[in-house]
Amino acid sequence: MCAASSHIPGRGNRIRRLDEAAINLIAAGEVVERPASAVKELVENALDAGATRVEVHYSRGGKALIRVIDDGFGIVREELPLAMARHATSKLDTDDLLDISTFGFRGEALPSMGAAGRLTITSRQRDADTAYAITAEYGAMSEPRPAALGKGTQVELTDLFRNTPARLKFLRSDQAEARAIADVVRDLALAEPAIDISLHEVDSSGALRRKLSFPVAPDKDVDAAVLDRLDRALSGDIADNVMRLAHAQGGLSVSGYCSLPTFNRGAANGQFLFVNRRPVKDRLLRGALRAAYADVLARDRHPVVAIYLKCDPHEVDVNVHPAKAEVRFRRSADVRSLIVTAIRQAIAGHGHRTSSALGERMFDAFRPDSVPIRRGRPASRPSMPIEAEASPESNPVPPWEEETPIADSLSHPLGAARAQLHRAFIVAQTEDGMILVDQHAAHERLVYEDLKASLADQERTSQPLLVPAIVELREDECEQLLAVADDLRRLGLVLESFGIGALAVRELPLMLTKANCDRLLRDILDGLEEVGNTQILEERLNAVMSRMSCHGSIRAGRDLTLAEMNDLLRRMEHAPLSGQCNHGRPTHVRLTLADIERLFGRS
Ligand code: ADP
Ligand code: MG
Repeated sequence: MCAASSHIPGRGNRIRRLDEAAINLIAAGEVVERPASAVKELVENALDAGATRVEVHYSRGGKALIRVIDDGFGIVREELPLAMARHATSKLDTDDLLDISTFGFRGEALPSMGAAGRLTITSRQRDADTAYAITAEYGAMSEPRPAALGKGTQVELTDLFRNTPARLKFLRSDQAEARAIADVVRDLALAEPAIDISLHEVDSSGALRRKLSFPVAPDKDVDAAVLDRLDRALSGDIADNVMRLAHAQGGLSVSGYCSLPTFNRGAANGQFLFVNRRPVKDRLLRGALRAAYADVLARDRHPVVAIYLKCDPHEVDVNVHPAKAEVRFRRSADVRSLIVTAIRQAIAGHGHRTSSALGERMFDAFRPDSVPIRRGRPASRPSMPIEAEASPESNPVPPWEEETPIADSLSHPLGAARAQLHRAFIVAQTEDGMILVDQHAAHERLVYEDLKASLADQERTSQPLLVPAIVELREDECEQLLAVADDLRRLGLVLESFGIGALAVRELPLMLTKANCDRLLRDILDGLEEVGNTQILEERLNAVMSRMSCHGSIRAGRDLTLAEMNDLLRRMEHAPLSGQCNHGRPTHVRLTLADIERLFGRS
């Protein structure tokens, strides 16, 4: 079939220039994807105009109305039509697109909005004695007319996409669009901690309902202001659960906050990343975050962060994404390593801490049952995840030294062991309270840190098997393992090919001499799968070690002597990152005497 037959002869194949309205509408498709993107452009304009206070109003998820009011330097009457024109900007002095310090620079946002809805800009330039307004309605622009406004600029966008029903159909519910608007406001409030920013919903009677408020506290320094905003953005609990980070290398610097590994979320919605104060959703940066926490967090859990990267504007190209949400770095490997190092340093400095929310959670779990016990109903116990008991053979006994108990000293940070509960938890008494330890989680961390340390020392940590163990696998699985055989050898696991579809295990890591080889290799394969083969060697090894240590650590279900328990506690005190297991679960929780007294209503 001839493809050209669907064209009208003589017309369909002609090239013609699109008119201004069509161009703007096409641009609008990129820049104004949904109400939240309009809010982003308008607030950015207000910030670029030197505003100290920005108010955002919306109704029906921004579909009916978006209004942004600022106290910035305003626009003079003659420039109002220009502001609405395409490719007209006051922000690009040179044609050096790598020298950008404002949020905007493309001169596209206002004309795009004027094409996609009804846009009215009312502005009073700082020295002018009156304000002027101009309206663009689906592409048609009015003349500027006198209007009333104290100072600054007010931009109103109504009936977005009303004349493009196809776009309208792609919008989500009012609530979902409102949430996206709130996300944008949070991002920008964190980007500019010294500017007063607030978000209000306009109800059907025109009344304002405050949704978010980021006031300025003049007595706070930048760090404190960021912390306050992070707390407001995520509705509390932040200050006790984040670590400050600051690091610089090679002309790049990073600062901000990242959460304790045990303070994590099921989604990446508590992550705020800024490059030269521009909020970005950059894949490279997210990858760096993941790598930085790989040791201490399961892959489906996400830390909370507010991270500010600063660099020479020439180091980063911000003109690679229509909404400027992604950037490209000239030295991307350096940026990645800077962030990974900064976060790892922070984590290493706070390795023993666990989230403050845990103590509260534990406290809640201890609350007396509201149903009186005398009714014969047993008091409920908080449900504690106890791992399936493993058989003693598959449970390699760690090299505990059966020595006489250490002096019974309560002064150790994790106290003196008193009892083991349900063959899974250790109770220890400290000077001012008690500690409950998850023996598997704690031991897993210790084995992991041991493995890492021995890797760093390049010590030989393996033991040859008298009879090699033959493990049958798929051919591609054999190849995957053989590809990392050298890395595994360094960890003490020596593998060789054993014909098609089988591997021979010749030596096992000392830690794992009683391991079930079949299960161990499968675990390692899973680890490789998770991390992928594109990442750097260390991450791959760590993932393998993390697997190994989970496999090799004492499970719930094993009896421990007091000496073994105390040994575990002492080793936890000295091991890095011992506050959490490799998956970001806490290894222990603490209850102070004051908390215990509170439980019994004594204080
Ligand atoms: P850009 O921000 O990329 O320059 P816009 O279309 O968003 O493009 O805005 C065009 C121009 O209008 C800006 O360069 C600026 O000069 C002016 N402008 C827009 N919003 C404001 C505002 N709130 N206050 C002062 N000037 C503004
Ligand atoms: Mg702009």
